[in-house]
Amino acid sequence: MNCAAVVCGDTTIAIDCGIGFTDEDGAELVHPDFSWLHAQRESLRAIVITHGHEDHIGGLPYFLKKVRVPVYAPPYAVALIEDRLAEHRIKGVDLRVSPAGAREQIGSISVERFAVHHSIADATGLILDTPVGTVVHTGDFKIETDPCEGQRFDRARLQEVGSQGVRLLLSDSTGAEVEGRSRIERDAEVALEKWIARSPNRVVVATFSSNAFRLRAALRIAREQGRKVCLLGMSVNKHTEVARALGLIPPIDSLLIPPGEVSALPRSQVLILAAGTQGERASGLTRLARDEHSRLHLDAGDTVIFSSRIIPGNELGVRDVINRFERRGIEVITRDEHPEVHASGHGSREEQRTMIQILRPEAFVPVHGTHHHQRRHLELAAEEGIRQTQLVENGSVLELTRDALRIVDTVPVGRIYIDGMQPIPEEVIAERRAMGSGGVVTVLLSLKDGRLQQFPRVLSWGVFGASNRDRVERKIAEHVRDRLKGRRFAGPAEAEEASIEVARRFLVHNHRKRPLIVADVNGET
Ligand SMILES: [Zn+2]
Ligand SMILES: [Zn+2]
Repeated sequence: MNCAAVVCGDTTIAIDCGIGFTDEDGAELVHPDFSWLHAQRESLRAIVITHGHEDHIGGLPYFLKKVRVPVYAPPYAVALIEDRLAEHRIKGVDLRVSPAGAREQIGSISVERFAVHHSIADATGLILDTPVGTVVHTGDFKIETDPCEGQRFDRARLQEVGSQGVRLLLSDSTGAEVEGRSRIERDAEVALEKWIARSPNRVVVATFSSNAFRLRAALRIAREQGRKVCLLGMSVNKHTEVARALGLIPPIDSLLIPPGEVSALPRSQVLILAAGTQGERASGLTRLARDEHSRLHLDAGDTVIFSSRIIPGNELGVRDVINRFERRGIEVITRDEHPEVHASGHGSREEQRTMIQILRPEAFVPVHGTHHHQRRHLELAAEEGIRQTQLVENGSVLELTRDALRIVDTVPVGRIYIDGMQPIPEEVIAERRAMGSGGVVTVLLSLKDGRLQQFPRVLSWGVFGASNRDRVERKIAEHVRDRLKGRRFAGPAEAEEASIEVARRFLVHNHRKRPLIVADVNGET
């Protein structure tokens, strides 16, 4: 969930506005708490988007619901942002197309874009011209030795900027643990071609749908090997449509078949292009693995190629999907055994080193990736002789002057969990955690003239097994009755509070359990 602010005189610009994916506490996604940035609305002139990945654009609807500012983004990202804003029914956003090479004067900062190689089309980095010198933000990048069509890296421009002097470089740290260079996109394409050619029956290529280069490769290979293509899932359809509209993918209409027509074709003439490589429960790929898809079925002897990596945290889900395929006799090809089937979008150490060598910055701050990645990246900068370096945390305020770089403050930051396109309030998260870990007990009371009227009713979920649930519920109710009878309550809230406390002590003392306890008074008080 990348989001950074650059403040210079009377101008603030935000760089990227991303989300993270999570299933914590029943959330679908998480975005940064934008409160601080929203409070800068007077000076905030624009949000500048480096590229269209969700961890860079996904937070825009949530940000723009509160504060409207112009958004500058490269063409591929613009198409995705438009779609996302429409989904949230947000209209009238000042969304400006800003391709690599464009230069915009935003308040007191001049912003120039340069093209970088990455696993999405139109990825860019930023050259910020400020009164204290040039600041370069790489965005997410890799440097390919043999780029495929449509991939561009503006090395000459960066060399020029480097020779004129760079005050500060902010560089993508994601690949800092990987020695050498990253695998190039072309090699992943060659590997896909080989594995598809070797597959006698249906082939599923599962990949990140935002990588139009990979989609284009799979489509070309299918055409050349006489296979029709079924696009499985909303995101693959969306990205194919955007890539088609921007001319990244040649016409493919004659190649495509809907899921319902797959079974009518000989198995050797089918390629299914699917997203959902992370074991997501609702994805088309997971449903294929569970054989729960309404119109598509795989059989023993078919092949599934994971042209992807497992994002840390998703291992169990992905392994489950793989096991389900394999149990049914479906061959699975993954990066674990065949590393050549996927190419990362992030450069490894030698590419990170090249970026530093091209720009020769006076100061260096690693960004993107975890603290550990950033630390490794910092070592690399030190090896390259950069003396002013700084590690930052979320919320760090970094001051850059003509000769110094230091952390001067921190601003509050946090995480906002989203469920059903709305933030989940903190109290709901707390309740979900309590319910999820301990179950729920409810105590229903009725009062008359402030006194307990009837025998309390206790219901529980997720606390006791069926064999003793009724008995324990009855015990809790008796205990609440015994402790509260005779007491006079000023109002329902006081009675609820007292009964919760009594039930809580009872459960801790007798059962060592700490469920979420709720009480409700009904009837006349
Ligand atoms: Zn990215
Ligand atoms: Zn990213």
